[in-house]
Amino acid sequence: MHEYMVADGVVASVLRYASESGRSVRRFKVVVGELSMLDRQILSEAIKGLLEKSNLKGVEFSVETEPAKIICGICGNIMTFEEATSKLDESEKEVVHFIPDLISSYSTCGRCGSMDLRVVAGRWVEVKDVVP
Ligand SMILES: [Zn+2]
Repeated sequence: MHEYMVADGVVASVLRYASESGRSVRRFKVVVGELSMLDRQILSEAIKGLLEKSNLKGVEFSVETEPAKIICGICGNIMTFEEATSKLDESEKEVVHFIPDLISSYSTCGRCGSMDLRVVAGRWVEVKDVVP
């Protein structure tokens, strides 16, 4: 399960923050990209389980979804995943969801028609707003 690996990384980075800053952490936020293929529920439970076992017991956290953002390298148009894939059929959408870098092989910019598309948000998992 991918979620457990990610949970491990999340907890490790909060622990690192705590030890480097010498402060105890009260709260943090995990931002999960729309295209990261992670189950938020499973991720949340995995993090909770790891926190219990670490010295971060009792720390609060929330898990939020970050929508994907696709930018056109020619005209600068910014699209959501839905907008950028609206002309694709279901199986093509699935491919692009799974391998976002392929968006430039399947989609074109809704404004200028260029295939120079890049995913600039919504692919990653980030730890944000660590509150001491
Ligand atoms: Zn464009």
